[in-house]
Amino acid sequence: MKECIVLDFTDLTNKFEVFLEDFDDFTIDPKYLKTNLPPEEFETLHKLLSISEEKILEKVSKEDKYNLFESATSQVNFVLFPPVNGTISEGYNAKEKHFGVDIVVAKDTPIKAVSDGTVIFSEWTAETGYVIIIEHRHGLISVYKHNAELFKSAGLKVKAGDAIAVIGNSGELSSGPHLHFELWHNGVPLDPVKYIVF
Ligand SMILES: [Zn+2]
Repeated sequence: MKECIVLDFTDLTNKFEVFLEDFDDFTIDPKYLKTNLPPEEFETLHKLLSISEEKILEKVSKEDKYNLFESATSQVNFVLFPPVNGTISEGYNAKEKHFGVDIVVAKDTPIKAVSDGTVIFSEWTAETGYVIIIEHRHGLISVYKHNAELFKSAGLKVKAGDAIAVIGNSGELSSGPHLHFELWHNGVPLDPVKYIVF
């Protein structure tokens, strides 16, 4: 896991202030993670992003304390582009531990970066095949799983719309060609359809 980032939770207040300047309708309930994020997801996070359960819980408790999301206001729109255009076969469903959307598209379709950023992970994983993860501004991270091929290696900068991978069916947990796509903000999963039109 050499090229992984370590999310910085030590300066949360500052980070949220930056974030809140740019986001409009951000409605994550911080308590949600604390009660519903299952052990398996913590393990996945740990593997992919090198962050620990303790850090997430610490962060959640700080969110509770400051309650910043509820007072969010914004002047600027932050646009995310669709990684692919296709049919959503399975939506975001936290209760079923599905922290992203599955999008079915034709074989060999290129997958695009949703925004400018830096590739922080680009490797094979047994369960979810070829995975690529991009870190963007404002503590936002996009995750693309089950790819057939990866075009960018960790450490490379990408622009919004750059082709980063090819749609695939890789990994033990994939049952057909699709993109599993996730959006995270400072360790909190977001429902991608609230931010992106696929
Ligand atoms: Zn999925």
